[in-house]
Amino acid sequence: YSAMSTMQQTDVLIIGAGPSGSSAAALLRQKGYQVTVIEKQFFPRFSIGESLLPQCMVFLEEAGLLETVRAHAGEYAFQFKNGAAFLRGTQRSFYDFTQKFSEGPGTTWQVRRANFDQLLAQQAEKMGADIRFGHEVLAVDVASTQPILTVKGEQGDSYQIQGKFLLDASGFGRILPKFLDLESPSDFPVRRAVFTHIEDGLLNDPEFDREKILITVHEKDYRAWYWLIPFADGRSSFGIVAEQDFFEKYGYDGSADYDLEALQKRILADDASLSHVLRHAKHDTPVRTLVGYSADVKHLASENYALLGNAGEFLDPVFSSGVTIALKSSSLAVPLVEQVLQGQAIDWMEQYETPLRKGIQVFRAYVESWYSGEFQDVVFSTHQDEKIRRMIASLLAGYAWDESNPIHRNAKQRLSTLAEYCREEQTQTTSERVADR
Ligand code: FAD
Repeated sequence: YSAMSTMQQTDVLIIGAGPSGSSAAALLRQKGYQVTVIEKQFFPRFSIGESLLPQCMVFLEEAGLLETVRAHAGEYAFQFKNGAAFLRGTQRSFYDFTQKFSEGPGTTWQVRRANFDQLLAQQAEKMGADIRFGHEVLAVDVASTQPILTVKGEQGDSYQIQGKFLLDASGFGRILPKFLDLESPSDFPVRRAVFTHIEDGLLNDPEFDREKILITVHEKDYRAWYWLIPFADGRSSFGIVAEQDFFEKYGYDGSADYDLEALQKRILADDASLSHVLRHAKHDTPVRTLVGYSADVKHLASENYALLGNAGEFLDPVFSSGVTIALKSSSLAVPLVEQVLQGQAIDWMEQYETPLRKGIQVFRAYVESWYSGEFQDVVFSTHQDEKIRRMIASLLAGYAWDESNPIHRNAKQRLSTLAEYCREEQTQTTSERVADR
């Protein structure tokens, strides 16, 4: 690449080649625009977020990225997925995504993101996107009509590149929120995830359904939960999510050299039901942790830039909404970017931010209701109306933007009412379980 003095030019600049960056690049290439993606890391690289939702399939297909995932699903042991299962002590429940209210695909995969993200990026490259792996964005200038990035190249050299529009798909890198002071605190409490990959010992267990993510509510503290996301080869992603005080009770002080594997095992041992499910598991991979990942921004776009996926708002891992929101954001933003490139004026608030946030708000209502315990009681209720089950299955399958789904309207209030009804029907509720402790 040329030296600092000569400014490179492209139509659209994208920071980050995760799902939001690669899908935006692919969509723009379909329309014939020049796209340059600056990606700090070399792929394949680890990323958390392995449970996809069926709604993703619609966006992958639209971007011309579905076929490559399907073609390599076997090679990378992507796990066919058709629902979500829940466990709380002796209570079990599951939602089948094919039995849902909304139209659209009812199945998807659970994926190792290292492979999945690489497949999407490779396909975008095949479509003509210039993805520069090992290049890091150091500075951003959006003051002139055409944004400029200062980039450190693979050899440590710096250069500048200018585009007619800038998309920030930098995920937790949060480049524009940081450089343009757009950060706005999330209103969720600070939570931590402690996670790894395990040999799950469940490959030949007829009682275990690999085709569903398993979400377990901690038996002794309903604010904490575990994910088990099986892949097709006998391995699973396994994680624990809770507020910091929960981990402190197990002796974790947040220090860098803490034995996270021992911590995970202690917490697992405290849940008899999940310990039984994982009785043959082998813990063989270093355990990682992330804290304070929920984030928000003051606004998601301006005349010459927009934030995609996690670079904008990130809620919580519990309903696996991250990649779905990332792909949805690209699907909404790219047609608007095209209009900008054609010289049209766009009301980014009305045409991008408001519609994107509408679905995010629906997810948010479920996340809040989950952590209050209300939605947990709905999930484990044995008296659920079939129609309502389908409406809930729709949300769990990622169809948060389907405005025809009645429970999406005023979701928070509706979930409260639903929980109340389920609790009346049920002998023991979360609040009573807490009182029992
Ligand atoms: P990312 O996938 O994060 O990609 C951003 C890219 O930008 C990275 O490759 C990074 O290297 C690059 N980048 C960053 N800074 C720079 C820079 N300065 N210069 C150049 N490149 C840069 N989502 C799900 O759908 N399902 C799940 O089960 C799920 N589980 C989760 C569990 C936890 C604990 C957490 C925290 C999140 C989870 N998520 C899940 C969310 C999911 O990880 C993200 O939402 C998703 O990866 C967002 O995609 P993205 O494209 O916006 O960003």
